[in-house]
Amino acid sequence: MLIAGKSLDQWKADYPLLNELLQLNEVIWNNPYKGETSYISSLSLNDILDAEARMKRFAPYFQKVYPETNGIIESPLSEVNAMKKKLEQDYKTEIPGRLLLKRDDTLPIAGSIKARGGIYEVIKHAEKLALGHALLTKDDNYAVLADRKFTEFFSAFSITVGSTGNLGLSIGIMSAKLGFKVTVHMSSDAKQWKKDLLREKGVNVVEHEADYSIAVEEGRKQCEKKLTCYFIDDENSKDLFMGYAVAALRLKKQLERLNIKVNEANPLTVYLPCGVGGAPGGIAFGLHQVFGEDVHCYFAEPTHSPSMLLGLMTNLHDQVSVQDFGIDNVTAADGLAVGRPSGFVGREIKPLIDGVYTVDDKRLYQMLRWIYDTERIKLEPSALAGMIGPVITADPVKNRKGTQLVWATGGSLVPQNVWEEDYRRG
Ligand SMILES: *Cc1c(COP(=O)(O)O)cnc(C)c1O
Repeated sequence: MLIAGKSLDQWKADYPLLNELLQLNEVIWNNPYKGETSYISSLSLNDILDAEARMKRFAPYFQKVYPETNGIIESPLSEVNAMKKKLEQDYKTEIPGRLLLKRDDTLPIAGSIKARGGIYEVIKHAEKLALGHALLTKDDNYAVLADRKFTEFFSAFSITVGSTGNLGLSIGIMSAKLGFKVTVHMSSDAKQWKKDLLREKGVNVVEHEADYSIAVEEGRKQCEKKLTCYFIDDENSKDLFMGYAVAALRLKKQLERLNIKVNEANPLTVYLPCGVGGAPGGIAFGLHQVFGEDVHCYFAEPTHSPSMLLGLMTNLHDQVSVQDFGIDNVTAADGLAVGRPSGFVGREIKPLIDGVYTVDDKRLYQMLRWIYDTERIKLEPSALAGMIGPVITADPVKNRKGTQLVWATGGSLVPQNVWEEDYRRG
């Protein structure tokens, strides 16, 4: 049986790392394509600034309907020294520089990194509709969008998304708040509490027996039949990507406030959990625009779902799934359980990122326990894929330096009993 035209043995011969990957061992893939200039992106810093300006226009709206946001959906950046010591002790290593945690687990509204991209794409669509129907101008105070006139207007339109969980939460909650009719297609193994929470908010949740990619396809087909339906495609969406990328502009300011310089002598190394690629990809793209060569990004995937690694290494991107290679895509990290990566994101980040590594589920649970024991922070399994990164890349010989930043991607909406179960496993 051939995989994209080659036998498995041929693939293994061409990419020896596949032997490890297929045995579900933890691996690190150092990106040989970094710095390659053959691919010209159509996206630029201007696109990020445009997204940031749109978010600013919506600030009065967020202030009104979610006062706890103060008009901005952003998370704190904090130093986790006790966790750093724990990692150094248990892994008998020395992590260079300060260890920072980006607390996207605390992002308002959706409790995960998806609050960046998902909410952005929904507000962009809402703005386009309201402007297009001459109900709004860009100079208006967007707090009016909370008025009945607008929720009634939006109720004539629908939004559909396919999701392993958190994207559905973010898009479902925001769309319903604006007044849209919203449908979230999920695989039946999606976490029960996420489905329950969405239904509570008035979202139509459709469950599918087959896996995530099939759920997305199903969602797209049903939506495309209707003119008033807008499909959010997390495998190809530039809007999601830009919503994530804005994080880089804000991170720059947060680092400045902590008096952390990022330059050649003090590079910034960032560890990002990766599913389909949009969130880590958008952030890596933004960071590269902001910090250039002084930032290093690593993506982290579960050993059972190394889809971005496979897509990048083989250059097949979305033309290949982990299942094609006999990997099952079953992991407790539901936010990362994606068998086929985004081709759009893969091509964008291929010349930018330093590498991709994989993590065993057992280690995710272990880290989940440690981050609570040392820092009293409660995260979901997906959010911990980045945590081992500073250990993996620590290298006394190469004498790595600079600041280490682990992106904690979700957790605050996880029900206490679900989190306790995860903690016990750790
Ligand atoms: C979705 C998600 C990610 C990864 O984002 P992708 O865009 O799918 O790569 C990481 N962590 C959590 C908690 C998520 O929900």
